[in-house]
Amino acid sequence: MKEKLQALRAEALTQVEQAETLNDLQQVRVSYLGKKGPITEVLRGMGQLSAEERPVLGELANKVRGEIAEELDRKKQALETAALNEQLKTETIDVTLPGRPVQVGGSHLLSDIVTEIEDLFIGMGFEVREGPEVETDYYNFEALNLPKGHPARDMQDSFYITEDLLLRTHTSPVQARTMGEYKGNKPVKMICPGKVYRRDTDDATHSHQFTQIEGLYVDKNVRMSDLKGVLNQFAKQFFGEEREIRLRPSFFPFTEPSVEMDISCKVCQGKGCSVCKQTGWIEILGGGMVHPSVLEMAGYDPNIYSGFAFGMGPERIAMLKYGVDDIRHFYTNDIRFLQQYHQV
Ligand SMILES: [Zn+2]
Repeated sequence: MKEKLQALRAEALTQVEQAETLNDLQQVRVSYLGKKGPITEVLRGMGQLSAEERPVLGELANKVRGEIAEELDRKKQALETAALNEQLKTETIDVTLPGRPVQVGGSHLLSDIVTEIEDLFIGMGFEVREGPEVETDYYNFEALNLPKGHPARDMQDSFYITEDLLLRTHTSPVQARTMGEYKGNKPVKMICPGKVYRRDTDDATHSHQFTQIEGLYVDKNVRMSDLKGVLNQFAKQFFGEEREIRLRPSFFPFTEPSVEMDISCKVCQGKGCSVCKQTGWIEILGGGMVHPSVLEMAGYDPNIYSGFAFGMGPERIAMLKYGVDDIRHFYTNDIRFLQQYHQV
């Protein structure tokens, strides 16, 4: 029996050594140390032995079992370590992979247009002024020669916060505020870009919120020819040297006389096409000489001072310059649209 145990021991240890997976090892454990294994079998047969032999053999059987168990554990640990190393080897992070690109934002087409126009007028000596978007009835209408009940107010219906407070319908209040600040004894030469609001139904050319840039020049001896000179300079610098301008009579309550400025159509060179509705001209902005009442209300003596003012919509300018067909593209923030003009 002793020999049998020794043989089992050698056999088991060889199999442990040969096991290649944890599964193999488990099979060895079950077959040698399990309840139906050969060692248990030997222990069961001990009843036939003499009283002297029994403890000796029992001790040997336990020793063999212990040794096999110990070897199984050692091999198990070795296999687990090897498996972990293998896993680490295949799952290493490849630091040479290119990184994921980060989306970098860019300025909006409208912001670019406004900045471009600002730079152009700064170059002609104008300063850039801003004012509140929530404005009083006085600055939005009355100070601009639009008293309560004036029919021209109908064209500029707005969003009222109270009876006297509203979202400004144009940037002209900034002109009235600046003239008020200069107290009637200092020349004013400014442009004011900003957001304005009107109660309009949104469509391809109208929006309840849009952008305006207005300009004002008040000094002694400011004449209509100065207005024409400044606007001509703007048109040529912004749209191209070859563009011609023309002024047509118009009406605005805060200027007298008032004009609309057109530039010659780039598409047909003034011959007439669908873009210019066969006229050869495209309307760009409105302006005129500041109404004496507006000067007077702002504290400037109209007998000493005179001035001109003009206003334009950067959306319309951008639509003309880049051929944008719907004003809503500017506000819906579709990146595919914006990317055409900027690396967004
Ligand atoms: Zn044309």
